[in-house]
Amino acid sequence: MKKIIQDYTKEELAERVKPPFRAKQLYNWIYHKHASTFTEMENLPKSLRAELDEEYTLHPLKMVDKQESRDGSIKYLFELHDGHTVEAVLLLMREAQYHEDGVLKHHPRYTVCISSQVGCKVGCAFCLTAKGGFMRDLSAGEIVSQVLEIYKDKGIPSNHRVNLVYMGMGEPLDNLDNVAKAVKIFSDMDGMSISPNRQTISTSGLSSKIEKLGRLDLGINLAISLHAVDDELRQQLMPINKAYNIASIMEAVRNFPVNQRKKVLFEYLVIKGVNDDLGAAKKLVKLLDGIRAKVNLIYFNPYPGTGFQRPEPEDMRRFQQYLLNKGILCTIRESKGLDISAACGQLREQKLSEGVGK
Ligand code: SAH
Ligand code: SF4
Repeated sequence: MKKIIQDYTKEELAERVKPPFRAKQLYNWIYHKHASTFTEMENLPKSLRAELDEEYTLHPLKMVDKQESRDGSIKYLFELHDGHTVEAVLLLMREAQYHEDGVLKHHPRYTVCISSQVGCKVGCAFCLTAKGGFMRDLSAGEIVSQVLEIYKDKGIPSNHRVNLVYMGMGEPLDNLDNVAKAVKIFSDMDGMSISPNRQTISTSGLSSKIEKLGRLDLGINLAISLHAVDDELRQQLMPINKAYNIASIMEAVRNFPVNQRKKVLFEYLVIKGVNDDLGAAKKLVKLLDGIRAKVNLIYFNPYPGTGFQRPEPEDMRRFQQYLLNKGILCTIRESKGLDISAACGQLREQKLSEGVGK
């Protein structure tokens, strides 16, 4: 089987292609010119192009489905070389803006949500990705290629500034080596130049891995999927809480090197009648004491077969207002792409039932 060229940092490629400046040229072809074959890389010697073609693939992912939402967000389903499928979502955060004469004033602003594993071991009770169990880790190149394929599909220029969130399928810190490598490949100035401070890793709270990620000092943003403020409830929703309780997560967060101008994001999935009461909001304020935090309230997105319900908008607002009154930055996540089965794992699930992927 051919190796995936996107699996390699520029430095690693420089050890393989001689002389080393060829690695920079190769990066330029892959990440800027979006080359689809090695043959077209005309400033590389013919012999090298043939060698590369022999040994590597440029296409580790095949787009097998794409659903466009009314709000402009697009959900992609990619098939890997072994037939497994993963999702990635292009979120349109702000539309392009034009001057009166039709000249572009602002490019559209995008956030790309990417997957780090096929399935997930963590097994959260509310999550569809968890239902299918865990298949395997994605390689760095399979993570990087999700964004590359979306750029190609949408004709997004390589110098466009996008934000990346590791909030698709899988637990990124359970695949830390490959995720950390992807962070570096994304940020390479000869590649996609997506700076680590525009990348956010979301975790269910593997405290020891949060500490490890902190020690790597990648300059990345951290998001914690908290969802509950006492261990008993959190354990029911997220079995991982048995191994890493709330106190251990908070300790790891306090030790995490956060960019001076940034905050740690706490995601709080709100489920009707489960964690949407003001008592929970009150405890949350206590937990976050002394942490530079912001909170993102997420509407639980129901799917067939779940026993959980979407919360009422007035309960969401009441929860939000309580935090705001206590001086904690708190937003309610817009339900983007609701009409395209947006919650993680839903498109994959739908396609599996239609016989696409495995
Ligand atoms: N495993 C990591 C990252 C992927 S999950 C983590 O859990 O943080 C990304 C986010 O989607 C998490 O905050 C998760 O709680 C949320 N999510 C999972 N199922 C959901 C659902 N049915 N509706 C809304 N959000 C959901
Ligand atoms: Fe895994 Fe995150 Fe889903 Fe939990 S919410 S099962 S950690 S993907």
